[in-house]
Amino acid sequence: MFSVPPFRYSSLPSGISGLLGRTNPERTMRARIGEVFNCTGQKGTYDYDFGSTTRLAIERTGGRAGRIGRPSVRLLVRNDPLPWTCGTCDKPATLVCCAHETESSPFVCAAHKKAHPCSDAMFLPVINSPRMGICGYAG
Ligand SMILES: [Zn+2]
Ligand SMILES: [Zn+2]
Repeated sequence: MFSVPPFRYSSLPSGISGLLGRTNPERTMRARIGEVFNCTGQKGTYDYDFGSTTRLAIERTGGRAGRIGRPSVRLLVRNDPLPWTCGTCDKPATLVCCAHETESSPFVCAAHKKAHPCSDAMFLPVINSPRMGICGYAG
C-alpha cells in the first residue's frame, strides 16, 4: 500500500465510497504513476509487507517530458550501497544479525562472525535494501 495525499492506493481497495459527499480517498494500485504524482515535490509513503512493515518515504523530485519508447518500465536512477561496517573492526560488513538489529553493532565481517554471540541462523547478508535484516529478506 502507498499513500500520496489526498489518496491511498491499495492492491485490495475496500470499495467503501466517500462519506458525506467527500471523494473516496482510496484508489487501486493499478493507477498510472503520472496520475499519482502530478507535480514535483509531491510526497508520500510506501508500506512494504504488513507482517513486518518497512515504511519508505517517497517523493517526486522531477519529471521528464516526451515519449520514452519501449520498454515502458526503465530504471532511471539507483542509490549507491551504504557502507555498513563490522562493529568489531570497522572493515566492510558481510552479514547483519537479526537478533541485534536495534542495537548499535548488528554488523559483522567474515572474520568476526564467530566472535558474535548469536547462532548462524540469525545472520542475513548485507544487501542494498531498506529491508536488509528484516523477516528473512536476503535480496
Ligand atoms: Zn570485523
Ligand atoms: Zn546477534
